[in-house]
Amino acid sequence: MVHEKPFLSDPPKAEQPRPAAAATLLALMHAQGEVERLSEREQLLSSLLVSVNAVLWAIDWETRRVLYVSPAYERIFGRSAGLLLADYREWRNSIHPEDLDYAEHSLARVLDHSAVEDREYRIITADGQIRWLSDKCYINQQVEPGEPVIVVGMAEDITEKKQMELELHRLATTDVLTQSSNRRHFFECANQAFDSACAQGAPLAFLLLDIDDFKDVNDTYGHLEGDQVLRRIAESGRGVLRRGDLFGRIGGEEFAAVLPGCPPEMALQVAERLGKEIQALNFSYEGRAFTVTVSQGLASLTEEDSTLDSLFARADAAMYEAKRQGKNRVIAG
Ligand code: GH3
Ligand code: MG
Ligand code: MG
Repeated sequence: MVHEKPFLSDPPKAEQPRPAAAATLLALMHAQGEVERLSEREQLLSSLLVSVNAVLWAIDWETRRVLYVSPAYERIFGRSAGLLLADYREWRNSIHPEDLDYAEHSLARVLDHSAVEDREYRIITADGQIRWLSDKCYINQQVEPGEPVIVVGMAEDITEKKQMELELHRLATTDVLTQSSNRRHFFECANQAFDSACAQGAPLAFLLLDIDDFKDVNDTYGHLEGDQVLRRIAESGRGVLRRGDLFGRIGGEEFAAVLPGCPPEMALQVAERLGKEIQALNFSYEGRAFTVTVSQGLASLTEEDSTLDSLFARADAAMYEAKRQGKNRVIAG
């Protein structure tokens, strides 16, 4: 075996680290790499938490201590996270009073279901704005006895989505011209009112209103003026009725109202008053003043009525009787 001598030009060998020191160095380098990776991950996580439009939160169920709330809390709630971490009641204070019971009960459902994903409620921000949240919550399932129950959640700001839903609902249920309920929505609500009046044995009146000689109004003053008449009559209708009464435009120049809890004599008075108010409306077109009248048919719930349709049919027949008797009057059928 040839033993090669080192060349004279070979650089002197660096001193070899001892094995134990090498291991320490390697461990240190590894740890430093790990720290860097962790800090990168932490930076990534915190930038995610800052940019996501949802509040992540965690509470200790027993003590109701808020353990964590992500940075979006301050942005969405406009309140200090420090105050919330110090006192859970800060969360309750931010909930819209009408939604507080619901928010608390739905949160408590998490104990039985381990996840509650359909909670939506309103909050009031520090500067008085109302926002809608979708607040999903989850529970750590495998809790050992004596271990705290931690509820975690994610509250997302869904205000824009909610406003769009409300707007869509409004468009689907409202008559564009008069801003009253449209026919479909009116009858949906009327059927519900009918069912609860029957269930409670409470009175209920159905009123049908048709404008007299409306074709002449259009022919004489034009369709746009006719539209104006429809709008003003709808305003009178909404003005005369009480909260809880239903009012809608159910045809071209036909309106209907349902008066829950209203006995027949009182319903007759309401209809007479409405007729007078409509007759007192002043219209003018190109310097020519005119007024309009309406014919109304009234029907009150009896034990024979098993569906809303029979009540509607009686009101309709009464309205035609009002037309037959010379218009501008109320007939109770
Ligand atoms: P009556 O006293 O018997 O009820 O007579 P009328 O002229 O009111 O009844 P008719 O059913 O003959 O005419 C209803 C008119 O309502 C015809 C139609 O052009 C008008 N009309 C329906 N919808 C609208 C609307 O949205 N705008 C306007 N301006 N007119 C409408
Ligand atoms: Mg008609
Ligand atoms: Mg008419």
